[in-house]
Amino acid sequence: MRNTQSTQLLSELSHAGRKAVRLPACDVPEVSLEQLLPKSVLAEQPPQLPELAEPDIVRHYTNLSTLNMSVDTHFYPLGSCTMKYNPKRNERLASLPGMIDLHPYQPEDSLQGMLQLLFELQGFLAEISGLPAVSLQPAAGAHGELTALMAAAAYYKSIGEERTVVLTPDSAHGTNPASAHMAGFKTITVKSSEDGSVNMDDFKSKLNEQVAVFMITNPSTLGLFDGQMKEIADLVHSHGGLIYLDGANMNAVLGVTRPGDFGADMMHFNPHKTFSGPHGGGGPGAGPICVTEKLGEFLPSPVVVKDGDTYRLDNDRPHSIGRVRSFFGNVGVLVRAYCYIISHGPDGLRSVSENAVLNANYLASKVKHFLPIPKGDRCMHEFVASAAKLKAERGITAMDIAKRLLDYGYHSPTVYFPMTVPEAIMVEPTETESKATLDAFVETLFRITEEPADLLHDAPHTTPISRPNEVQAARKPCLRSPMCGS
Ligand SMILES: *Cc1c(COP(=O)(O)O)cnc(C)c1O
Repeated sequence: MRNTQSTQLLSELSHAGRKAVRLPACDVPEVSLEQLLPKSVLAEQPPQLPELAEPDIVRHYTNLSTLNMSVDTHFYPLGSCTMKYNPKRNERLASLPGMIDLHPYQPEDSLQGMLQLLFELQGFLAEISGLPAVSLQPAAGAHGELTALMAAAAYYKSIGEERTVVLTPDSAHGTNPASAHMAGFKTITVKSSEDGSVNMDDFKSKLNEQVAVFMITNPSTLGLFDGQMKEIADLVHSHGGLIYLDGANMNAVLGVTRPGDFGADMMHFNPHKTFSGPHGGGGPGAGPICVTEKLGEFLPSPVVVKDGDTYRLDNDRPHSIGRVRSFFGNVGVLVRAYCYIISHGPDGLRSVSENAVLNANYLASKVKHFLPIPKGDRCMHEFVASAAKLKAERGITAMDIAKRLLDYGYHSPTVYFPMTVPEAIMVEPTETESKATLDAFVETLFRITEEPADLLHDAPHTTPISRPNEVQAARKPCLRSPMCGS
């Protein structure tokens, strides 16, 4: 059980007269506040601050800091989010004084090291993606989607074509249609086939000269690589359209295949997923985008270029869509991505992907015996199991399982996404977990499916609160006391 003290508020722990610091007696004449400040700005009552000793405060915050699960404390199989372990080396390098003491208003000649790093990162991402033109500016994956679609709109304008439609498969991440809408396109959904791949008949019936972009996540959020990719890309291109590749799942194919080689014209990376930037607390992330040569001139300005031995920011790009982020983007995240990429090297990156795929398939091959995996026999870096049978037979839902896992010290997997799988449980182990961790997780998952339904409906039992109303918690958060609302 948790220490209840950690869920009390500081005001509840307060004890009249307790102090963290006792000051020596004043040895100069005291001056009252009224003599120093106008009366209008003085409060009538002193503020009711909690009175606490230093250990009370330290314990309070230290205990609070342990209530959350993190990659450093627990296995975190949150599908789609790639919660892999973040090597501490990258943190150390990103916090070197030469990195963190820079200021973006410094003259370029005093920023040569950082500009070189960013220039080289552009090159690495171009090589990994197979797409030569790169912008590091977007602040997250979704922002990269929006930026690339704005560049696509600028491209069509430049060739005098008016295209209004973006096609997305029904398994797409929610950010895809949202970004298309924000960029001014109309989105049309393409159905998936029974096996989770794009339904080619539905796709062909919706493809025409109105289609600007086909946005596809491949490998998909089902953890499957759509083998029709080349055919899809050829068809889209023959109608004058562009392919956008949502690269959030690049950790499955690094060094194995390149989006530029299988037909993508534009893509984003999520360095906070693929290249181990710490994430999960809401950011910052980054969303660098890579595009074909012909789209390069529309990318945001500035980009980092090299003239002879000098690195500089190129702002002289007349067809650019302009800035999408202040300064150079979220540089701290980009520095970590750079460290991750150079410390692995090409072979290391490939083995990252091979192990991510191996771990996911190992887990899937065990889980499928008690939680069916409806789409695909083999997976890439993640898989989607279904609790539909368990729900029909015993009333146990994906939510029950996800909540109960917290009692056993596991972060919950992603649930109810993608919506094409009923009672979806989406598991992404990542390459950084050992066989022992995966075995223990499977054993726990199996044990949960054997537990009494009533016990599961009330889970979790060991956390400070059990099942908040999630809509209310998001829309009308009550921050005063963990007990409020009950
Ligand atoms: C995470 C994710 C995104 C969005 O990326 P952010 O960096 O969170 O904005 C888009 N598509 C897929 C498939 C994702 O997994």
